Amino acid sequence: MKTTELMRERIQEFSRQLREEFGPLAVSADGCLLEVAEEWGVQLGDELARAVTEQALPAAAESPAEATCPQCQRLARWKGVRKRRIETRRGAIHVSEPEYHCPTCRRSFFPSDPRVGDGA
Ligand SMILES: [Zn+2]
Repeated sequence: MKTTELMRERIQEFSRQLREEFGPLAVSADGCLLEVAEEWGVQLGDELARAVTEQALPAAAESPAEATCPQCQRLARWKGVRKRRIETRRGAIHVSEPEYHCPTCRRSFFPSDPRVGDGA
């Protein structure tokens, strides 16, 4: 997805709202306003990147009640949700994955969405 002019305008407005809500940047006596502002911008950018990534992933709560067991190909039942930490280029995000249990194989498995990756 490419950043559009409308997206840039929304980000500018969001930045103004944050500045109004949280006040001016604190610069020490020997500090440089440009460095402080850039650092805050980088932190906000990283936070935004993590939020966008987390929200793009499918929610585990919307998973089907059954899934095919990768070992025996029979239906397995939804068991619950496993939380997992994934390191991205912009820091760690946390995702929830559905866990299923196969009564035939007597084991649990996580049919990860191929878009998520295996985290290895
Ligand atoms: Zn099985």
